[in-house]
Amino acid sequence: MNKFEQLGLNESLLRAINDLGFENPSEVQEKAIPLLLEKDTDIVALAQTGTGKTAAFGFPLIQKIDAENKNTQALILSPTRELCLQITNEIKLYSKYVKGLHTVAVYGGASITEQAKEIRRGAQIIVATPGRMQDMINRGLVNITQIDYCVLDEADEMLNMGFYDDIVSILSTSPTDKSTWLFSATMPQEVARIAREFMRKPLEITVGHKNSGSSTVSHEFYLVNARDRYEALKRLADANPDIFSVVFCRTKRDTQAVAEKLIENGYNAAALHGDLSQAQRDAVMKSFRNRQIQMLVATDVAARGIDVDNVTHVINYQLPDDIETYNHRSGRTGRAGKLGTSIVIITKSELRKINAIERTIKQKFEEKSIPSGIEICEIQLFHLANRIKDVEIDHEIDSYLPAIYEVMKDLTKEELIKKMVSVEFNRFINYYKKNKDLSAQKGGEERRDFSAGSGAVRFFINIGSRDDFDWMSLKDFLRDTLGLGRDDIFKVDVKEGFSFFNTEAEHAETVMDTFNSMHLEGRKINVEISKNDGGSNSRRRDHNGRSSGGNSNRGARGERRSDSFGGGRPPRRDGRDGGAPRRKDSNSGSRDRKPRRSN
Ligand code: AMP
Repeated sequence: MNKFEQLGLNESLLRAINDLGFENPSEVQEKAIPLLLEKDTDIVALAQTGTGKTAAFGFPLIQKIDAENKNTQALILSPTRELCLQITNEIKLYSKYVKGLHTVAVYGGASITEQAKEIRRGAQIIVATPGRMQDMINRGLVNITQIDYCVLDEADEMLNMGFYDDIVSILSTSPTDKSTWLFSATMPQEVARIAREFMRKPLEITVGHKNSGSSTVSHEFYLVNARDRYEALKRLADANPDIFSVVFCRTKRDTQAVAEKLIENGYNAAALHGDLSQAQRDAVMKSFRNRQIQMLVATDVAARGIDVDNVTHVINYQLPDDIETYNHRSGRTGRAGKLGTSIVIITKSELRKINAIERTIKQKFEEKSIPSGIEICEIQLFHLANRIKDVEIDHEIDSYLPAIYEVMKDLTKEELIKKMVSVEFNRFINYYKKNKDLSAQKGGEERRDFSAGSGAVRFFINIGSRDDFDWMSLKDFLRDTLGLGRDDIFKVDVKEGFSFFNTEAEHAETVMDTFNSMHLEGRKINVEISKNDGGSNSRRRDHNGRSSGGNSNRGARGERRSDSFGGGRPPRRDGRDGGAPRRKDSNSGSRDRKPRRSN
C-alpha cells in the first residue's frame, strides 16, 4: 500500500497521483486528507503556497463529490485570477479519471456569459475569485444554495485584497450546514473573524509554526547605503548566475524603474505590476515560467498569484511595511520541498525591522556582505568553466571546425582553455576592478552624498534649450514630473545641451530615481549630482549635450556618479554596454517623443 493509499484515497485519485509522479504526501496532505475524508468538518489550515495544499483539499473534495449529480457541490474561492486558473488546472489533473466531474473557473477579465454557459453544462466544482463570483450570484448565473463544501484558499490574501464583503455575502448565500475549509498562510485578525463567524468548531491544522515562514527558506540580509541598493541587486544577480528570482519593490514606479534598468544593463528581467494590461501580465508570467526571465520585478499585489516552482531567490529590494507581506514574499521560494533564499537589501535605518521579522517567523537571518568584485569574478569563472564542460554540441558547427582548428592550431590545450575562459573573465574583472565594495557599516553615520553641507543638492540634467526648454518651462517640467511643490526646485540654469537645478536633499533620491529611468526623444535622460552647490558660478563640466545622452552609465566624465542606479553590467564582448543577451521585454516601452515616465 503506498502512502497515498494509506490516507484513504480511492483508485481513480491514486492513478492520477501516480501519473503526476507524487511519491509521498506532503505534511499538510498527511494531516488534512484523512481528516477531511473521514468527517464532514470545518477546518482551518495554516499552510503556505508550495506546501501541496491544493491537493490537501483537492483530493478529498474530488473523492467526496458525487460526479453523477450535475449540481454545483463545491465552491473554491481564491484571491487572484492566476491562482484561480492554477487551482482549476490542478483539480482537473487530479480528477482526470473521475468520469463526469467538471470543474469550471470563474474570474474577472473574461467573458461572464461563457463562464455561465460552462456552469449551466454542469460544474460540480467552481473555482472563483470573490468579485466575479459575487457578480454571477447577483445576476442569477450561478446557484450555490446546495453546495456541500466551500474552500477559502489563501484567505489572508483575499482579505488583504479587500474581498471581506464579497466573501461574507457569498457565504451567506450558501447553506449553513456545508463544510468550510479555510487555508491561509497567516492568521491575522480578519481571518480569525471569518473563522469565528462563519465556521462551526473548525479543527485546526498547522504546517510548521503558526505565522512562520516555510522552513525550506533561509533568510539573509545585506546592509548597504541607500544609494547602492540597485548596484547591490546587480551584484547579487552576478554572484548567482543561475538565479531565478522574484524581486519585490514597494511601488509600481520603482518596480518598473528597477526592471527597466536591469533590462538595460543586460539582465533577463521584466516588470509585473498593476499598470500592465492583463495580456501584458500574462505574457510576462509565461516568459517567467519558461525561464526566459530570470528576474521578475514585482509589486506585492501583482505577485499575489505567482505560483511558480523552483524560484531560487526572493529579493526584497525594499522591505514591505508589514511582516505578513514579508512572509508572503518569501513563500514564493522554497516551494514543493525545494530550498530557497529570501534576501533583504537593507539600509541601516531599517535594521530593527529584521529583528521584528525574526521574532515573528522564528527564524534567524544571516547577515551577509555584498560579494566583492573579485568574488563575483571567481563565481563567474567557474560557472563559465562548467557551462563549457556541459554544453551540448550542435553539429551545425561541424562544417566550421576545420577552419577554426586552423586558427587555433598553434595553441596548446592549456593555452586554449586559458584564452577561452578569459574572454568572459576579462569582461567581469575589468568591470569590477573599477568598482568599490558596497557593504555599509552598522556603526557611525551613513555617508550621504546628497547633503553636502547646505542641505540643497545641485543636479546636472542632460536636457536644455536645444530641447525647447527655458528656465521657466524646465522648472515647470521638473516640478510636474517629480510631483514637487512650487518652491522645491530652484536655481534652474538652462544651457544649450544641459541644465542645472537645485532641490532640498530630501528630494534627491526621488530626482535620481525618476529621471534616470526616463527618455526624451529616444535619448536617455541623465541626471547627476553636481559637486557644485549652485552658487553663481557653476563649475564648468566636461559635458556636451550630444554625448551625454544614450549610454552614460559608466560615469566616465571624471565625476563620481552617486545615483542609486549606477553603472551597468560588465561591457559586452562586442564592446557595447550591458553584458548578457538582452531581451527587449514587452513592457519595457517604446521611446516616444515626450519624456516617458517609467511607472
Ligand atoms: P501548492 O501548495 O498546492 O501550490 O503545490 C505546490 C506544487 O507542489 C504543485 O506544483 C503541486 O503539483 C506539487 N505537489 C503537490 N503535492 C505534491 C506531492 N505530494 N509531491 C510532490 N509534489 C506535490
